[in-house]
Amino acid sequence: MSQASIPLQEQEKTKILKAYKKLISSCLPFTNEEERKLIREAFELSNKAHKGMRRKSGELYIFHPLAVAQIIIDEIGLYDYTSVICALIHDVVEDTDITLDEIQRKFGLTVRQIVDGLTKVSGVFDSTANKQAESLRKMLITMSYDIRVALIKIADRLHNMRTLDSMRQEQQLKISVETKALYAPLAHRLGLYPIKSELEDLALKYTEPQVYNEIARKLKETQADRDTYIQDFIKPIKQKMEEIGIDCKITGRVKSISSIYEKMLKQHVTFEEVYDIFAIRIVIDPKDKDERGVCWRAYAAITLTYTPHPNRLRDWISSPKANGYESLHTTVMGPGGKWVEVQIRTKRMDYIAERGLASHYMYKDKNSEAQKESLQEKWLNSIRDLLENKQINGQDFFSVVTSNLVAEQIYVFTPKGDLIELPVGATAIDFAYAIHTDIGNHAIGAKVNHKTVSLNYELSNGDHVEILTAKNQKPNIKWLEFAKTIKAKTKIKEATRIERQALIEKGKLLFQRKAKSLNVSDNHPIIKKLLEEFDLNNLDDFYFLLGSHRLSTQKLNDFINKNLKYLQSSTSKLEIGELPSPSPSELINPEDVDLDSMTIKDADLNATVKTGKCCNPIPGDDIIGISDPIEGIVIHRLHCLQVVKTINQDPDRVIKTKWSTGNLVEFLTSIRITGYDRMGMLNDIVRTISMVMRINIRSITIDVQDDMFEGVIKFYVRNIKELNQVITLLKNISGVLTVERT
Ligand code: MN
Repeated sequence: MSQASIPLQEQEKTKILKAYKKLISSCLPFTNEEERKLIREAFELSNKAHKGMRRKSGELYIFHPLAVAQIIIDEIGLYDYTSVICALIHDVVEDTDITLDEIQRKFGLTVRQIVDGLTKVSGVFDSTANKQAESLRKMLITMSYDIRVALIKIADRLHNMRTLDSMRQEQQLKISVETKALYAPLAHRLGLYPIKSELEDLALKYTEPQVYNEIARKLKETQADRDTYIQDFIKPIKQKMEEIGIDCKITGRVKSISSIYEKMLKQHVTFEEVYDIFAIRIVIDPKDKDERGVCWRAYAAITLTYTPHPNRLRDWISSPKANGYESLHTTVMGPGGKWVEVQIRTKRMDYIAERGLASHYMYKDKNSEAQKESLQEKWLNSIRDLLENKQINGQDFFSVVTSNLVAEQIYVFTPKGDLIELPVGATAIDFAYAIHTDIGNHAIGAKVNHKTVSLNYELSNGDHVEILTAKNQKPNIKWLEFAKTIKAKTKIKEATRIERQALIEKGKLLFQRKAKSLNVSDNHPIIKKLLEEFDLNNLDDFYFLLGSHRLSTQKLNDFINKNLKYLQSSTSKLEIGELPSPSPSELINPEDVDLDSMTIKDADLNATVKTGKCCNPIPGDDIIGISDPIEGIVIHRLHCLQVVKTINQDPDRVIKTKWSTGNLVEFLTSIRITGYDRMGMLNDIVRTISMVMRINIRSITIDVQDDMFEGVIKFYVRNIKELNQVITLLKNISGVLTVERT
């Protein structure tokens, strides 16, 4: 990166000074004189250390740290002088003679630690997954010590991606792949949406330049038409908002190139066929504290002007995303029969959506009493705990971290009212280990919402959890069956290692004997299916299950025999794409059918449920239920021939289903609700179903006429009892007149 020292041109000096002055004036609102003096020192140190160094583009190196510091303020919104200092000197230890001790002497321990964290993170991944995982481990540990390390690292990566043009093509590819795989998900997890989109777009630009350029060109060509359309679309909404006294800003936003491309791939459509190239965003300045109420009122007003799509209401204001994102999304029919996505949120929600974690960080800083860690910090801590454990091998680890970046979370409360973030499906033992390893190790049971439960109790959003402990209790190898978090699993494995190892060896022996007779090797496709079937992470976990007799050899035999046949008879026969004659084009493809219309009928709700022998669906497969007067409800894979046949011949028998927890199946159901319209009515209905019953709503359509409303709500239930409970609760809402199955 460095070259022989080249004398500074006057011009360049002026340019550096200009950039520095801009930075200092951006710092004015949140720094005092003392702090600005330190920022100046950091700049001077960096300028001196990088003196004469140029980037591949020929630009003086100092412009890079200056740009990173500017991104920290302008785009990440981290108004923190320490972060500005660290951004300015983030590359000096790695690239120059300056040492960490010198930095500590000048700027203190915190700055040293952050810069150290940024320095260790160096180099580009090799293509082998193992090495990649090891670099990732190293990098994330350092990030997790101080959240600012992650934020500065993202700013650094963003500037590097913006200036990637001058790098060699091979480097461009490597850096882009890494950005797409790691930094974009990380920015997403930290709630930095605009940065996430830009990182993805830039990565696409270098990994698939033709695709990128083609979409960019088409966006440009269609821009004028789009702008006109957006203006026409917005006009009546604006009027309506004024009428009902909602103060808001309405804009049209084009989606990112990478997200358009993703849609084209996912939905197998061309650019022209992607209906949501742009979205309308309504940012409300609420007059009172009822932020949700005003969002729902705006929603009601919009859907009075434009008809909403029955299946596209996304409510992240009742239950925000794990990264803090709050917004209400709906899709409505705009002029000319075009579907248009509308996002509704308040100014506060918008700020969080744009700035993500940084906004929480600032909030925390300003409220000295709010000493609690943010959820993201807790998440980073949990990653650190995990990374510092040597038991996990590189491969495991990579899948763990990347899945951790996007996994859906639940939030539960400690007795003191602290919020703990856990993955969906977590049990009391996971909670115990999340609090403290000691508590986990000595746990004997738990109280959830004041009721005593066992350690395998599955927690739900909002539960209050208290762990019961006993001095003599020791971790039990059986806990591994229901521990979900990596932290709990690792700690239990650690504590029961010797016992476990013996059982693994035993299981391995058992399996090898079996495998030999069947001619199945360790990397046979059936192994993958087997791990999926029994929800296992790796082969050791499988051997352990077998060795401890928790999985009987009989069950294993059955599974292998059933699936070997299935694998040998080749899956392709079951796939729609390879249907034998008659010509496939004459049949309706399950994917082309409005599956949401296929809800469960009264008569079927108490029927028994079986899985189809023809296609052997397992949890995770897309599934469809077929009602049969003798067999009850039979579950098939979406592409099973049986499904295709039934959809074509007897569609009334088809029921939309999905997997729920514990290998159970949920059925799509539909109710009609009528009543008097009032403020907050929709909100009450939605809250009753999604928050009280914790049931996921599939869709809501509400028609309001004069003072009355009529709506159809579709959601998944496991059984008739659950459905009747929902109906009773809805009937109790004030203003609701009738609730009935459709
Ligand atoms: Mn850098």
